[in-house]
Amino acid sequence: GHQGGSRLGLAGLAVMGQNLALNVAEKGFPISVYNRTASKVDDTVDRAAREGNLPLYGFKDPGEFVASLQKPRVIIILVKAGRPVDETIELLSSFLEPGDCIIDGGNEWYENTERRAEAVRQKGLLYLGMGVSGGEEGARYGPSLMPGGAVEAFKYIEDVVKKIAAQVDDGPCVTYVGPGGAGNFVKMVHNGIEYGDMQLISEAYDVLKSVGGLTNKELHETFAQWNKGELESFLIEITSHIFSVKDDKGDGELVDKVLDKTGMKGTGKWTVQQAAELSVAAPTIEASLDSRFLSGLKEERVAAAKNFKELGVSDILAPSNVDKKELIDGVRKALYASKICSYAQGMNLIRAKSMEKSWNLNLGELARIWKGGCIIRAVFLDRIKKAYDRNPDLANLLMDPEFATEMVERQGAWRKVVTLAINAGISTPGMSASLAYFDTYRRSRLPANLVQAQRDYFGAHTYERVDQSGWFHSEWHKLA
Ligand code: NAP
Repeated sequence: GHQGGSRLGLAGLAVMGQNLALNVAEKGFPISVYNRTASKVDDTVDRAAREGNLPLYGFKDPGEFVASLQKPRVIIILVKAGRPVDETIELLSSFLEPGDCIIDGGNEWYENTERRAEAVRQKGLLYLGMGVSGGEEGARYGPSLMPGGAVEAFKYIEDVVKKIAAQVDDGPCVTYVGPGGAGNFVKMVHNGIEYGDMQLISEAYDVLKSVGGLTNKELHETFAQWNKGELESFLIEITSHIFSVKDDKGDGELVDKVLDKTGMKGTGKWTVQQAAELSVAAPTIEASLDSRFLSGLKEERVAAAKNFKELGVSDILAPSNVDKKELIDGVRKALYASKICSYAQGMNLIRAKSMEKSWNLNLGELARIWKGGCIIRAVFLDRIKKAYDRNPDLANLLMDPEFATEMVERQGAWRKVVTLAINAGISTPGMSASLAYFDTYRRSRLPANLVQAQRDYFGAHTYERVDQSGWFHSEWHKLA
């Protein structure tokens, strides 16, 4: 008995869909929900009742589900990316009418969104690809939302998304990102940046633990302390918590029992592929992806450790006599400086895509909607927003006067930490990649002249000169 009454529909009631639906209902918008497997509909309806009689209506028949929506109908889809989205669109669109709108909230490849938007446009339907970040908690209590696509469709849901998104000092963590697949693309880069942040934090952990000898208790305290300063962020906060969690199946802390193999679902890989496609250097994000690949080779690494130990190279070289307090302070600075470089890479990737596609994306606004709700939320994003507000054409975050000053203040400690790690045989691919990015970017002359000379030597690829304009070729082998 809810014909035509719901403001919104949501199809796909796994972790994200179920929690987002409850969030919408809690904000007072009646919502209809549907899932391929009917038991999840019952679960969601039960939760809505338990969590305060929320205006949420469950449907097991797709036709009845669609009929329960106010016109123009708006349906958010939150199913597994790829084929399942196509199948869900196919199932639902037969019940939809021109003017209705489909929103894919999944981590979808942006070109799939553009293809689907075009396909449903033939039927008069509007389409949005909306990145949703914040995991289970975010979906339930306030995610960061990155909708892109038909601007008219955004207008239909603007009041809803502004209410359900995380709220920060300068408004809800949602904005109309841009046309086409811009919302999915921005969410993809968000995830790439997230990979970088997690990698850098894990390197900080490794250096503190393996070089500094910090216990889990000390790590817990260190990260808790860091979370009160410039590094204050969701990931630093949960990291601090992780070190304090006891193993429920044995002695000690749970973190030490977790196998050192990182999984992944594809958004980090896409980010790196896009960076290469657009000729944007993203070494920190790439290092984080490579680290996940290498982490997966657990059995090979165990064999290699044994092999090299027998050859005299132990797991940790030269245990150094470091001052713990100084090391902690240095690692904090190294982490912060490395993070700035990683964000600079991510933002430049977004800008390059925006230019290629004429999306006209607003980098400062994107930093703003990442201030709350999402996994990379951090106090420092407000500073990134302000940097782009000061200068929307900023070529690189490192050139913002405030960030430049901070890099200069931290570079000494940063170099020391990376050197210490290298000498100890502890790999810090993210921190090292960030440092190399900084050192490459800030030098007016690179050894690229030699690479270009080699290219001209063996392939007659020609070169430019520093003192004359034009393209030159030399018979290098004859001149030598
Ligand atoms: P998920 O595990 O990615 O997908 C499960 C859902 O997809 C279920 O509702 C399932 O229905 C449905 N589904 C799978 N194949 C289907 C098909 N062929 N036809 C119809 N429905 C199908 O769910 P999730 O973790 O909630 O994520 C949803 C989306 O949000 C994904 O794109 C994910 O990448 C993205 N995301 C997830 C998170 C997170 O923290 N989990 C965060 C941000 C974004 P059945 O119940 O019938 O199997």
